[in-house]
Amino acid sequence: MSSGTNILAVFGSTGSIGRNTLEVVRRHPDAFGIRYLTGNSNAELLIEQVHEFRPAAVAVTDPAAVTAVKSAVGELTEVFAGEDGLMEIAARSDYDTMVSSLVGFAGLLPTVTAIRAGKNIALANKETLVVAGEIISRLCSEHGVQLLPIDSEHSAILQCIVGEPGHSVSRIVLTASGGPFRGRSHDELSAVTPEQALRHPNWSMGSKITIDSATLMNKGLEVIEAHWLFSVDADAIDVVVHPQSIIHSMVEFSDGSVKAQLGVPDMKIPIHYALTWPDRLAGDYDRLNMAEIGTLTFEEPDTEAFPCLRLAYDALRAGGTAPAILNAANEIAVAAFLDGQLSFTGIADLIEDSLQNVTAGQADTLEAVIAADTAARSFAAAQIEHIAELNTTTRV
Ligand code: NAD
Ligand code: MG
Repeated sequence: MSSGTNILAVFGSTGSIGRNTLEVVRRHPDAFGIRYLTGNSNAELLIEQVHEFRPAAVAVTDPAAVTAVKSAVGELTEVFAGEDGLMEIAARSDYDTMVSSLVGFAGLLPTVTAIRAGKNIALANKETLVVAGEIISRLCSEHGVQLLPIDSEHSAILQCIVGEPGHSVSRIVLTASGGPFRGRSHDELSAVTPEQALRHPNWSMGSKITIDSATLMNKGLEVIEAHWLFSVDADAIDVVVHPQSIIHSMVEFSDGSVKAQLGVPDMKIPIHYALTWPDRLAGDYDRLNMAEIGTLTFEEPDTEAFPCLRLAYDALRAGGTAPAILNAANEIAVAAFLDGQLSFTGIADLIEDSLQNVTAGQADTLEAVIAADTAARSFAAAQIEHIAELNTTTRV
């Protein structure tokens, strides 16, 4: 990304992507440096990270964690609190690349701030592109910023199209593992528990994206992400279920040729690529042994059992703030499911309800996107409350 050492600000360093990023940095101390870290509630881990990486400053959002981090490492580093703290760090001049790995809508404004400060973005936080793809794309070109995907599918697509003329891409095929409930019917899914949904077969990730993978909303969000990253219409983005997660995605070209990118399922590899692009720095990650794997299989996604994928396509085709409404309703639904307030199949129902009832408009300003997010969250939260009341009445 830059010659010499790539100096990083890792947003969400205590999360799954953040921890994998720090592992990539540990393995390549000459290629990468850490200047800033941020965390939410895991004070203990952030404190350890400060001792190890000695960042110039950290930002902490959870108030109890702020106190804990200040008292433990306040002498070693500057500690900023809350969302303002995230913005303060995002706007700093002395780093090269933001690793945008907060989860959900919370990642939007810090990422926008970093783009405005001219920083390159290694993007894990797909929700940012889902809700504000139009704005982010515009800002990146205005500020000459590179937006490099960390998401393994989009990293695969980027690697397939490197060196190809842009007009030659005719179709993108995103692969999906199918999650822990692949093969189950809609009825069989109504009683699955958060514990079952959190057991992803191939990847170890944060809880929100793990639930998104179980509902196939993750793939839906990735369809929207691919649209903005690679300027491809919904009709030219396909999803195929590939349970082994070895082919990370494919690109079909205008002459009928198809390229795929393969690798072991390890997020450190796409993180490493995003941080070294357009170069390839040697990396000591597990190697793929095709003979050992033996078989790669593919099947159509089942959108009857997993309607979230269809809803995401609908929102992308509707355009404007529809994807922001989809995303907000999904964030509320996933939190309610994890909290035991909503059934697994209730997640898609709540999102569909929100898309039907919250009015979408243009998504060309941050204000419009934030307003759509707020409206969808309050609609979805009211529905959850309504469901909780019904459940109480039924029990009495
Ligand atoms: P995670 O839950 O493990 O980590 C999230 C990070 O964000 C943590 O550091 C947490 O402290 C911080 N955070 C959470 N809420 C916050 C808030 N309100 N304000 C400030 N900070 C907050 O999540 P993850 O699995 O690392 O995923 C991060 C992003 O990367 C998501 O957008 C996800 O979709 C995407 N992604 C993850 C993976 C993966 O393998 N984990 C793969 C592809 C894409
Ligand atoms: Mg992915």
